Amino acid sequence: MYYEVHSENIAARGHAPLVAELLARFARHAGEDGFVSHETFTADVLSAFGEDLMVLEPTADGDYLWTHYGREIARYACVDRLGQKVSEMLPDMARFTADCLGRALAENRPLYTVRRSDDTPRVGLWERLILPTTARDGRRRIVVFSRPMQFREDLLDAVLDTSPCGIVVLRALRNAEGSVEQAVIVTVNRRTAELCGQPDVDLHDADGRTSLPFLADPAIWRRCRHAIELRRSDTIETSLLREGSTTWLRIAVAPLGEGLLLTLTDITDLTIANQTLQLRAATLALEIGRERATRRALSEEIGQREERERELRRLAETDPLTALLNRRSFMEKANAAIAAAGTEASEIALVIVDLDHFKLVNDSHGHAAGDAVIRAFADLLLGLFRNECNLVGRFGGEEFAILLQDCDLSGATADARNIQEALAARALPVSETLALKVTASLGIATRLPGEELSTLMARADQALYRAKNEGRNRMAIAAPRSAAAA
Ligand code: GH3
Ligand code: MG
Ligand code: MG
Repeated sequence: MYYEVHSENIAARGHAPLVAELLARFARHAGEDGFVSHETFTADVLSAFGEDLMVLEPTADGDYLWTHYGREIARYACVDRLGQKVSEMLPDMARFTADCLGRALAENRPLYTVRRSDDTPRVGLWERLILPTTARDGRRRIVVFSRPMQFREDLLDAVLDTSPCGIVVLRALRNAEGSVEQAVIVTVNRRTAELCGQPDVDLHDADGRTSLPFLADPAIWRRCRHAIELRRSDTIETSLLREGSTTWLRIAVAPLGEGLLLTLTDITDLTIANQTLQLRAATLALEIGRERATRRALSEEIGQREERERELRRLAETDPLTALLNRRSFMEKANAAIAAAGTEASEIALVIVDLDHFKLVNDSHGHAAGDAVIRAFADLLLGLFRNECNLVGRFGGEEFAILLQDCDLSGATADARNIQEALAARALPVSETLALKVTASLGIATRLPGEELSTLMARADQALYRAKNEGRNRMAIAAPRSAAAA
């Protein structure tokens, strides 16, 4: 048992202001012999402070008998000891109390004690002021001021009353087998009553399971019992349905003495916000899913359209018989290459090829055979000028053009010779059984500084014309200036 006993500096030590007040009055009543008259002192203090005072008288057998027991003391202690003897208290308490009373009488001066209460559930610490007096008949009487430490209780009350959380202390009651059967509400604040939907009800000393609606839930009661028995904390979330609206509670459960401390937090707003958020997240996920599907479909559609456009562009640019560039796209690309080269004397050469006496092929073997020859010759050109900086186009009929970039006259001449040699080396396949030897005439022109495509082409054409005139199956190199200009 914790206790303090002081006979010095009592006024300064006392928590209740009444301690100093009683001490002062006690001193005023002291006679010259140092004794205080019981009758005059009690006449002074009993009517004003009697609810916080008790009076004891020593008995012949060394015990003490209560002749007055203040109502406030009885209220806090939950017991009225009027007519009882000190020896009837719990042994530890009885011994401590008798010792203190005896010492006050022996020293004939006030004694101040503080002790922890083990037997009163609501009070942690009691303070006492023991004042020894002497009655007219010479017998001793003891006036005792006894009160719970007011300051602490006031503080606790203030904390409980202002807390935004519900706070409940439960004391466990066990059955004969020692298992927890009931929980009595020892401390409870207003907020708890509000949260439980009974703001005006005093829940003190009530049975927790019938007064606190969430404890009526067998699952929650089971968890609380486990918390008591295993002395383990827990957190429980639950909802209470009240007048058609739901209150969500978070209950922090902590073991406290022979029971539990429950802290109740209203998490309704939080829960609703959370539910709304989850709902929104789900809707959002759904929308995102839909959006993704739409975007995928769209991008597939775009891909297909782009593919179709590429195909159309390719068809528009390509000569259908040979898959070479047609005249229009050859001209476009050749113009772009010349524009990119600018006015500098860049190395661009143009070769125009025309198959010789082609009318004869058609006349002798038919138009289809003529087509086959044109196709085979186109393949031959593609094989020779695979490099992507070269342009190979069919100008119509059996006439072809090749634009060579980064290529000077000697390179262009060598390329032209390669064409002639390839034709000389082998006949062009027409069908499985027919292959035809053909020759070609070629006109070569290299681009003059700043020269446009049209004049470059006109000069190559003139060279080709010359090659034809000079007997065909040959190449001719264009003069630096066109014949027209010269
Ligand atoms: P050269 O060039 O040696 O002067 O004589 P050529 O017989 O080749 O002369 P020309 O250019 O006058 O004749 C070309 C012939 O090519 C005329 C036409 O019948 C034929 N031709 C034009 N386009 C095609 C085609 O797409 N397919 C076939 N099979 N023949 C075509
Ligand atoms: Mg021809
Ligand atoms: Mg021709």
